[in-house]
Amino acid sequence: MGCELCEHEGGAVIYRNNFLRVVLVDDPDYPGFCRVICNSHVVEMTDLPIAQRSTLMMTVCKVEQALRDVLQPDKINLASLGNMTPHLHWHVIPRYRDDKHFPQPVWGTPQREATRQVPIDKLLKLSLTIRASLESL
Ligand SMILES: [Zn+2]
Repeated sequence: MGCELCEHEGGAVIYRNNFLRVVLVDDPDYPGFCRVICNSHVVEMTDLPIAQRSTLMMTVCKVEQALRDVLQPDKINLASLGNMTPHLHWHVIPRYRDDKHFPQPVWGTPQREATRQVPIDKLLKLSLTIRASLESL
C-alpha cells in the first residue's frame, strides 16, 4: 500500500534538507498551516536516532517562532498524529479565537464559518522567514 507522504510532498515545499522538509499546507481555512515532514518513511519519533529527534523538534520550534513573528496568532497548535498517514510529520498550526474550529482542534467539529484572510505577501514573508531561520540552524 502506498504512503501519501512518500509519494507526495504534502504541501508547497518552502524548505528542504536531506532529513526533512517544511511545507505550507493548502487549506483555505488555515492560512499559514505548516507541516514538518521526515523525508524517509519513519513512523514514530522513537524510530529516529536521538540527534535526529532533536533536529526535528528544533525545526518544529523554528517554524512555530516564524508563525508567531509573522502572523501573530492567538495560539499555536503542535500535533503529531499519523493515524491516517503513519509517516512521521508534525503539524504547526496558527490558531485564532475566530477561526473555524477554535477552541476545538482543526480536525474537530466546526464552530463557525472561517473568515480570516491572510494576504499572499504575508505568506511569502512567512516562507522566507522560515527558510532563513532554518538555513542558519
Ligand atoms: Zn511514507
